[in-house]
Amino acid sequence: MITENNMSDNNFKIEKAKARKLRQSQWWKQKIESGVCHYCGGSFPDDALTMDHIVPISRGGKSTKGNLVPACKKCNSNKKYYTPAEIILKEKLDQDVYF
Ligand SMILES: [Zn+2]
Repeated sequence: MITENNMSDNNFKIEKAKARKLRQSQWWKQKIESGVCHYCGGSFPDDALTMDHIVPISRGGKSTKGNLVPACKKCNSNKKYYTPAEIILKEKLDQDVYF
């Protein structure tokens, strides 16, 4: 079982720094220029999209290109600290699920 305590603060800082670097990259600029939210598929101006970790750093996710997607502010705040599997379960069961 993964708990917050298994995550070192240091690792958290490293992943945050990596995310910041990727946010400056051409790769990310192209992503947000396409203007599509990863979660709802809606179109947004690039300044309305935030960088989102599919698996949050707090749940062991890394700041890699495969784990970073553009999300509109609404989806980003809806998602919070759930993993994708938990979101699917939550919607299916219509109740709070936390592994
Ligand atoms: Zn969205």
